Amino acid sequence: MFFSWITSLSDEQEYWKQSFEKLQNNYINFSRDEDYSKCLIDEYDNGCYILNSEKLTSTERKIIESLQSLKCWQDKTIYMGISNIANAWTDGMSYIAIDKDFINKKHLDNRYCLYEILTVMAHEMAHDVDTSNTHCHNEEFYRNFYEIVKGYNSPIFYLDMLERKLHRSKIEIKKEKEKEKREKKEAKIKKKLGITT
Ligand SMILES: [Zn+2]
Repeated sequence: MFFSWITSLSDEQEYWKQSFEKLQNNYINFSRDEDYSKCLIDEYDNGCYILNSEKLTSTERKIIESLQSLKCWQDKTIYMGISNIANAWTDGMSYIAIDKDFINKKHLDNRYCLYEILTVMAHEMAHDVDTSNTHCHNEEFYRNFYEIVKGYNSPIFYLDMLERKLHRSKIEIKKEKEKEKREKKEAKIKKKLGITT
């Protein structure tokens, strides 16, 4: 029964199934035999820090604004930061930070990349402890993660909205850059003609 259902998946469903399987490889498997936990402790250097928004490029700022505007973070603030090993981390209460390199390597026009970003953030939502240092993926974590991802306000549910917001941001940034370029050009001409404003 299950296999007949699987084999009848449409192309799009097949794409998401494969995507999800691929994404699962990013996570450490929970194993009951290993004392309910497998920690990200080996070679962990606690080098996570949050970047001030002034240090971000206009594109990075728009990404953070777009993510923040999604109503699925339970009042947590979204930041961009830098981490040696984590794609994202949280204090378990007030914020989720996402690694600058992780974001910059993503193709924001690609839905799967956006899906990865949202899933990584859903992962952090499932932690109620500080993950900027060593942390464990125990049974409670996996239960939380499952509840968050299947819940009515799941970050995954906002994939389309994020895609639209980023698309709009891209157009806005393009317009801003064109305006900047035009103003610079006009200022240069005025300077040449000796016109002061
Ligand atoms: Zn984790």
